[in-house]
Amino acid sequence: MYVSYDGAAEPLGRSQVIAYLRGLAREHAITLVSFEKDRAGHDELRAELDGLGIAWVALDYHRHPPVLSTALDVARGRRALASLARAGPIDLVHARSDVPALIAHLARRRTAAPLLFDIRGFWADERVEGGLWPRGGLLYRIARRWERRFYAEAAGVVTLTAASLPRIRAQTGGRDIPVEVIPTCVDAAPFANAGERRGGPHAVWSGSVGTWYRFDLAPRLAGALGLPLTVLTRQVDEARATLAGAPADVRAVAPADMPAELHAGDIGLCLIVSSPSKQASAPTRFAEYLAAGMPVAVTAGVGDLDALVAAHDVGVVLAGEDDDALRAGALRLRELAADPAARERCRRLAAERFGLEQGTRRYAQLYAQMTRAPAPGETVLAACPLCGSEAIARLRGYEAAHLRRCGTCGFVFAGRRPSAAQMRAQYDGYGTGVTESAVTLKRYEELLDEFEAYRQTGRILDVGCGEGGFLQAAAARGWEVHGTESTEGALERNRARGIAMTLAPLAPGDLPAAAFDVVTMIEVAEHVGDPRAEATVIAAAIRDGGLLYVTTPNFDSASRRLLGADWSIVEYPEHLGYFTASTLTRWLREAGFAPLSVTTTGISPGRVAQGLRRRRGATAPPSRAATVGDDERLREGIERSPALRLVKRAANATLGVARAGDTLKGRFERRAVSRPAP
Ligand SMILES: [Zn+2]
Repeated sequence: MYVSYDGAAEPLGRSQVIAYLRGLAREHAITLVSFEKDRAGHDELRAELDGLGIAWVALDYHRHPPVLSTALDVARGRRALASLARAGPIDLVHARSDVPALIAHLARRRTAAPLLFDIRGFWADERVEGGLWPRGGLLYRIARRWERRFYAEAAGVVTLTAASLPRIRAQTGGRDIPVEVIPTCVDAAPFANAGERRGGPHAVWSGSVGTWYRFDLAPRLAGALGLPLTVLTRQVDEARATLAGAPADVRAVAPADMPAELHAGDIGLCLIVSSPSKQASAPTRFAEYLAAGMPVAVTAGVGDLDALVAAHDVGVVLAGEDDDALRAGALRLRELAADPAARERCRRLAAERFGLEQGTRRYAQLYAQMTRAPAPGETVLAACPLCGSEAIARLRGYEAAHLRRCGTCGFVFAGRRPSAAQMRAQYDGYGTGVTESAVTLKRYEELLDEFEAYRQTGRILDVGCGEGGFLQAAAARGWEVHGTESTEGALERNRARGIAMTLAPLAPGDLPAAAFDVVTMIEVAEHVGDPRAEATVIAAAIRDGGLLYVTTPNFDSASRRLLGADWSIVEYPEHLGYFTASTLTRWLREAGFAPLSVTTTGISPGRVAQGLRRRRGATAPPSRAATVGDDERLREGIERSPALRLVKRAANATLGVARAGDTLKGRFERRAVSRPAP
C-alpha cells in the first residue's frame, strides 16, 4: 500500500512516485492511494497503472480551508486504507512524507501492517524555517509530536540524504530498523544525449525561485561567469521581479521538455538557503543537471550536495556570497564546463547515485526486508497442514511469526516452512547442554509407571527425543528404546547412549510396523512441519491398542491470551504448529487414534516472565535454557513444600477445567487398523 499526498498524475508524482512503482510492481502487488488536485491526465495514467497491475485509489485533494481541509483528507485517507484492509491483508504501508504517515498511523489497527516512513525532508521544521508556521507554535508542536510517533512506529525509514542520518537515528531510539538513503532519482536516459549548446554555454537556473532559493545570487554568479542566464521556471513573474531588470531568458518549460533545455557544458545553479531542515533535502534539479553533463554550483549546508560536489569534483561549493567568493567559484566552474572529463564525471555520478534503477532496486530490497518476503528455499503454505483446507487467514497481531488460522478446522500454524538453511540455523546445537533436573527425572518415572500397563512388545519410541534423557530412564526399566531427532549430531550422540535412532522428519517405512507399545512426543508437535504425515507414520509404527502420549504448548492458554505475540512460544521458524485441545484431538483422531484424555496443566512462570521481557522490548529472545531454568527452580521449590504442592494442584485443576494451562497433555489409544469404511 503506497500512500502519497502528492497527486500521482502531476509531474512530481510521475517522476517521483510512478517512476519507482513501475519497477516495484514487478515483484509486489501494489495499491496506490494518492490525493489528486484535478483529473487531468487521469485516464491515461489509469490505463498505464492497469497495465502494470497497480490498483489506484485516487482521492480528491482539498485546498480550503487550511488545516481543516488536510484533516478532512486525512480522515478520507484513513477510511480508504481501512476499507482496503478489509478487502485483503496488507503487508506494508509505504507512507510518502508526513500526511500519509499520519493516515497510516490512524489506520494501523485495521491494516496491521509495518510502516515504511519515507520522509521527504524534515517536514515540520521546513514549515517553520520557510516562514509558513511560527516557531514553537501549536501546529509545529503537534506536527513534531506526530513525527516522533511515526519514527517510533516505523519498521523502516527512507531519507534523501546521508546528512540527515544522525538526526533520524536519534529519533528511532536505537531500534534495529533499516534506515535507507535513497535520494530523489532521475531517469537519466532523456538527459544523456544533451549535446553542447549552440553559441556556447549558459548559466541555467531550473525550478522554483521562492522561499528556499537563493535566486538573488543567480544573476550575480552569471555575471561573474560572464555567461548568459537562462531561467526555466513556472514562477516567471516572481523570477522577473527578483531579477529587477538584470538580463536573463526567463521561460516556463513543461517537465517533458526539460531534457532538451539542459546542455552539456552549461553550468547548473542549485543555490538554496542553508538551514537545519535542509540537511534532509535532495533537489531533483541537481541530479538532472548532472545527468545532462553539467557541472553544478551549490551553496553549502544543503543535504549531501557539498559532500558530493567535493568528493566527485563535479562542481563548486560557493565559499560565500561576496564578489570574491563568486569570482573564485566562477573561475573553477568555467574550467569544469570546458573539460569533457568533468562532464563525464557528472553523468557517471548521476547514473550511479541518482539513477532510477538504483533507487528502485533499493526500495525493492527494503520492501522484501520489511514484508519478510520468503527467503530462497522457504515455502509459503497455501492450505492448512492439518485438514488441507485453503480457507486460511492471517492471524492479526502475529505477523512476525507468519501465523495463520484455518477457517475449517481452527488450527493455528506458521504460514511458511523454513528452508534447509533456516532449519540448520535453528537446530544446530539445539537442546544440547540442557540437563534434566531432579523434578524432570521424577516426572519421567511417574510416566513410566503409567506406561507399564501397555507393555506387550516391550518397545517404546520417543519422537524428538532430544538428548535421550527419557529413553535412558525407560531403558533402565528394561524397555527396548527407540528415538528420532532431526540432526545427525543428535543421532550420533544418542546411538552412543545405546538408543536406536531414526532421522526426522519421518517417512513411511522408516519405523517397524505395529512395533511399539508406547510412543511419546514431548514438546515436539509444535516443531513438526507436516503433522498429518508425521501422525500417519507414527500410527503405522504403534500397535493396536498402544498408547500415544503427547505434550505441546496450548495456544488457548491464559498466558497466550494475556501476552499475545509476546508469548514466548510464538517464534518462527522454531514453532510451526500451535495446538489447542480441539485441534490436537482432531489431528490424532484423523490419524487413527482415539482420545483417552486431553488436559491442560500448569502456568510456566518462565514463559510468562519471558513474554513480559519481550513486551518491554528486550531485543534477543531469551534462551530456552533460561526458561527451563526459571521453571525448574520454581518446580523444585514447589515439590519441596507440601503447602505449595497443594496450591499448585488447585491451580492446575482450575486451569485444567478452563483448558487454560500452558501445556496440553494428551493420551491417545491406537484404534484397530481394520477400520470400517465411512
Ligand atoms: Zn484446517
